[in-house]
Amino acid sequence: MKTYNVGIIGATGMVGQRFATLLENHPWFNVKLLAASSRSAGKTYEEAVSAKWAMTKPIPEAMKHLVVLDAEKDIDQIAGEVDFVFCAVDMPKDQIRALEEAYAKAECPVISNNSAHRHTPDVPMIVPEINPEHAEIIHAQRKRLGTKRGFVAVKSNCSLQSYVPALHPLMAQFKVTKALACTYQAISGAGKTFKTWPEMVDNVIPFIGGEEEKSEIEPLKIWGKIEGDQIVDATTPSITTQCLRVPVQDGHTAAVFVSFEKKPSIDEIKRAWAEFKGEPQDLNLPSAPKQFLHYFEEDNRPQAKLDRELEGGMAVSMGRLREDSQYDYKFVCLSHNTLRGAAGGAVLMAELLTAKGFMD
Ligand code: NAP
Repeated sequence: MKTYNVGIIGATGMVGQRFATLLENHPWFNVKLLAASSRSAGKTYEEAVSAKWAMTKPIPEAMKHLVVLDAEKDIDQIAGEVDFVFCAVDMPKDQIRALEEAYAKAECPVISNNSAHRHTPDVPMIVPEINPEHAEIIHAQRKRLGTKRGFVAVKSNCSLQSYVPALHPLMAQFKVTKALACTYQAISGAGKTFKTWPEMVDNVIPFIGGEEEKSEIEPLKIWGKIEGDQIVDATTPSITTQCLRVPVQDGHTAAVFVSFEKKPSIDEIKRAWAEFKGEPQDLNLPSAPKQFLHYFEEDNRPQAKLDRELEGGMAVSMGRLREDSQYDYKFVCLSHNTLRGAAGGAVLMAELLTAKGFMD
């Protein structure tokens, strides 16, 4: 397999640090450059990031001495030196949209963790096991942008990366009609640690700005269909959510209630989860979990602390599946928000797009 040079835009942030550690020994992708805001530009990565390094692994040796570039000013240099970039920045949405399109127009594909382009109709929002076919919309996007290689592909919000994978294998056969999800979200989802957000120690905050809207609307794009030059959102199931911030460093849990047109048995649901696999498993992509969906029979699992790192933080785990008096069933599920839910999901998407030839 050929190797690809990549850049990390927003390398000093929480998700950027995840990218750095995940890509350290990646078999296909070689991190050639790092970029962030003008505040970090000109410093070595070690200088720029050391005070806010939040990973348990140390700063990758090969990246410590790279001089951080300015993501906004050095676009042509960056686009000229790498095959594509990963992007996770904290900026106003209109500026992120402009920045990502500028990279795409400079013929540098962008694999984005940001929400700015999630509702652009010709930008695919891919969960690789669920909607890999949405990659085909990139041809229409390239036509609109006037590019040969450049495009933007996005990852969905981290909140939904547990319950959407759990519902997906049940959709076609049993038709999910409605779902209610209460999410219990880790503080790293806000780019924070307990050190930088001491108010979260011994606390629960029942509001995460914009999160409930994303958690309800984004699944419909993921389950949408390509029609002509755009992805048209699905109209079902109806989803309602409440999103709470809880004092956990990593790992988003969701309590889910679900009803079906054709109610399956508990065994049928467990079998659908156990048997489900997608293109990443078929293609044996480097970051793909062997088993995407795991079910715990123990009543007190999955637990964020014990189970978030399952299969390198790329698997989704479920437990406590049982009948409900108002909905057909209820269960809990968990996924790692900065691995499967952010950087890991984006790396897997990049692997999928590479395998499909979009990075050549
Ligand atoms: P973060 O820790 O606050 O990091 C923000 C990054 O953006 C830093 O590298 C920062 O560089 C850079 N940045 C800020 N202003 C910039 C500018 N004008 N030009 C270039 N770079 C700039 O944020 P995060 O948690 O990593 O999140 C980054 C993005 O990923 C956000 O859009 C977020 O919604 C999304 N996301 C996060 C998670 C998660 O679990 N954390 C999950 C999914 C998606 P400096 O250090 O130089 O300021």
